[in-house]
Amino acid sequence: MVLSENKYLYNGKELQDELLGSVNLDWYCYGARMYDPALGRWHVPDPMQQFYSPYVYAANDPISNIDPSGMYSYNWNTGEYENSNGDVVSWDEVYGNNFEEPDDPPKNSNESDGSSDGIVALDAGHGIDGSNNPKVDPGAVANGVKEKDLALKITQSANKMLQALGVNTIMVRNGDIEVEGNSLVYRYTVANETGAELLVSIHINAAGSTDASGFMVLYSTNGNGANNKRLAESIVSSQSVMSLKNASGTGIRNNLAVLNGFNGDAAVLVEVGFLTNTSDVNTMKNHAGGIGNQIAMGIYQYLFGAEPEF
Ligand SMILES: [Zn+2]
Repeated sequence: MVLSENKYLYNGKELQDELLGSVNLDWYCYGARMYDPALGRWHVPDPMQQFYSPYVYAANDPISNIDPSGMYSYNWNTGEYENSNGDVVSWDEVYGNNFEEPDDPPKNSNESDGSSDGIVALDAGHGIDGSNNPKVDPGAVANGVKEKDLALKITQSANKMLQALGVNTIMVRNGDIEVEGNSLVYRYTVANETGAELLVSIHINAAGSTDASGFMVLYSTNGNGANNKRLAESIVSSQSVMSLKNASGTGIRNNLAVLNGFNGDAAVLVEVGFLTNTSDVNTMKNHAGGIGNQIAMGIYQYLFGAEPEF
């Protein structure tokens, strides 16, 4: 199969043609079967015979449904697995003994269950028009890429993966937005008002020297410093697409407003790589989905102390 460089053509899933470190790649190919984005079809009919045609993904209703394993479509709104008649089916009917049922089945994070526990706030850097920056702030701009756009793409991928893993998330922005007041205050205020447990702000670095490169997670030693450090280290240890900026992959920054203003359990700021470095920018453009998925894995490991089981 000939693939273009973009391996994230469909739902941010990565086609399985290379290894991504310690992450279980079976997940990225939907587990049970492969989807071919060039042909717009599955290679084989779903093993549960849920749908009549291998061309059908998620009951042809990708707004309401996802197919987390390549076996059955899942309705975000009802929180149930459904067969081709729209009838609710149980986890055992769907997966049998092949996969362990997650403790927290995926649900639509837009519909609160009234609990604020475990919410992860994902903040794509820049891209906000606030009264302190009346033109939408692009962040760094280099090599034809704006930081706000690439950071959003990576953040959206992390968001999708966390939701598929059953983690409740909020996105501070999902495109360019306008807000009243200071945009940095807005970012942590949104997270605080949701009762988020974690805040992960995702940025792309830039430097005067084109040699500077690598992935780094910044955290503060103030407040919940030990938690911040553990979250930073967890995200670093899950990252293998990007090389690390220094031996630890982490850095201490005690003066970042977006981190200092957050009142949940832990907050970090990820600098994925350098827009000013040709190698970094190519990796980030071509592997935004995989980088985001690995950031999600690091967050998951922080929350649950283990890799997800499928
Ligand atoms: Zn930035």
